[in-house]
Formats: sequence, structure tokens, C-alpha cells
Amino acid sequence: MGKRKTNKKSKIDAHKEDSLKEAVRTKKCSKCGEVKEISEFNKNKYTKDGLRCQCRDCGKEYYEANKEQIIERSKEYYEDNKEQIKERSKKYQENNKEKRKEYIEEYRKNNKEKIAKTQKRYDEDNKEHIQQKSKEYYEDNKEHIQQRHREYYEDNKEQIKEQSKEYCKNNKEKRNKYYRDRCVSDPAFRLRHNFSCLVWQALKANGTSKRGISCMSFLSYTIEQLKDHLESLFTEGMTWENYGKNGWHLDHIIPQSFFIFVSADDVEFRYCWSLFNLQPLWEKDNREKDNKLMPKHLKRQSQIWEQHLAAVH
Ligand SMILES: [Zn+2]
Repeated sequence: MGKRKTNKKSKIDAHKEDSLKEAVRTKKCSKCGEVKEISEFNKNKYTKDGLRCQCRDCGKEYYEANKEQIIERSKEYYEDNKEQIKERSKKYQENNKEKRKEYIEEYRKNNKEKIAKTQKRYDEDNKEHIQQKSKEYYEDNKEHIQQRHREYYEDNKEQIKEQSKEYCKNNKEKRNKYYRDRCVSDPAFRLRHNFSCLVWQALKANGTSKRGISCMSFLSYTIEQLKDHLESLFTEGMTWENYGKNGWHLDHIIPQSFFIFVSADDVEFRYCWSLFNLQPLWEKDNREKDNKLMPKHLKRQSQIWEQHLAAVH
């Protein structure tokens, strides 16, 4: 019996304690007059209870109503006190390095999604500004950045190679889709892409590579000139829309197999890929042509080359 009584008493005490806690955990907003939980109030280190007298909702309302003015004012304040603010925040950061680091890490860990969302929105809203800034930064620090990249690359060569291999493997679909889409919508891109592949294949077949250098740097014309050249040889029905599969192809008037070259610097490589040796040809004609060469044709072509080279040199 006695035991039960004490139990009852402590229950009442607990209840009292709870309501006391409840009272402490709430606060009346000075603006809207509502009694709200203290989590509904922002902190303010200058007040007695360490909280603002207005609730978050009222604060938000005020902010929304006076947004432009507030931003303008704080911008002005910042401009007027720039040096002082910077100095203060630097000092603060120095004095609270460890604490700050811990806090930031903790915050990051707990707010991953929120941060990503904010970052994304900021990036989208400030796209041009960011691009401009990073361009400026790059221009100002070019040598330093390049040096750092080189050093980083040298120190992490194997890892980078492994990573990019992995990345290529994982993003093959994405990349292929990008190339496919861009090739459909942009004829110049399709031409450059295909052309680069062709040149690369040609060099590879002869046991060399273009050593990461753009194929255009080996040749005496630009992609635009190649495009104009091919266009000037279009036969009826040829357009940039039907360039490629089931349409017309880039054809070597004298087949590649005729030439012998071991590097892109070889004269025969340049013959092979000179504008004089390139023409648009319907796929079906291309298939019929085969890699056989008519001596008569060859002779005529050699003459054209000699004239061409004489004109160039
Ligand atoms: Zn309020």
C-alpha cells in the first residue's frame, strides 16, 4: 500500500515537472502575440533568454515585405565596412579554427541534401556570373594553375588513368548519346567528329597515333574549308542531313590503302588527306568502288597534286 502511494506521488511530481518544462519551452511572440515553442524563435545573443522577441514566421514576414530594402542596406553596410568586416571575420576564423571546422563538418554531414539543393539553385541563378568569375580567375592565375595541374597529374598519374578509364566505362552511354545527338543536330560537328575518327584510324592502322594532337593541325585546311570543299562537290540530292549512314560518305579518291605513311608528318599522309583527294560519295557507290585503283585515274591525280604542291610551295 505504502509503495503504491509513493508511486502516485512521483507521478504527480513528474507531471508538474513536465508542465514547468512546457512553460520554459514556450515563449510569446511580441508581434503576433502567439505562444510558440522556443524552436520557433531565432537566437539573439543580446537578449536575456538568448532568443529574438519575434517568432520565425513574423521575422520571415518582415523579411519578405522589406527584402529589397534589407538587401540594399546590408550591401551598403558591407561596402562601407568591407575592410573591417573582412578583418574581423579573419580574426574570428583564426581564433575558432578547430571549433569552426568541427561545426562545419557536423553541419555538412547533417544537411547534405539541403546543401546540394542550395548549391544547385545558386549555380543556376548565377551561371553567367560564375563563368565570368572563373574565367577571370583562370586568366589571372593561368601559369600557377597549369603548373599545379601538371604537378598533380605527375603525382597521381596512375590513379588518374585508372579513374578516367573507369569514368569512360561508366559514362559510355551518356557520351555516346551526346555524340549521337550533337551529330544529328550539327553537321559541322558530325564532320569534325567523323573526320577525326577517320584520321585517327588511318594513323593507327599504320602503327602510329596523332599523339593527342588535333588532326587538323597536321592538315593545311580547316574543318570549314573541308565543309565548303565537300559542298562544292555535292551531287544531286546530297545535303548535310544525309551525310553518314545510308547517305553519302567522305571518300578518298585515291584509296588510303595506296599510301604509305608512318606518321602524320609524312608527305604521303598529307597527300592522302589533302582536299584534292577527298570527295563526297554515296554509300552504295563507295561500296562498289572497292580499293582498286585505275592507273589512268592515278596518273591524272598525280598531276593535280604536283600542280597543287607547286602552287603551295
Ligand atoms: Zn509572431
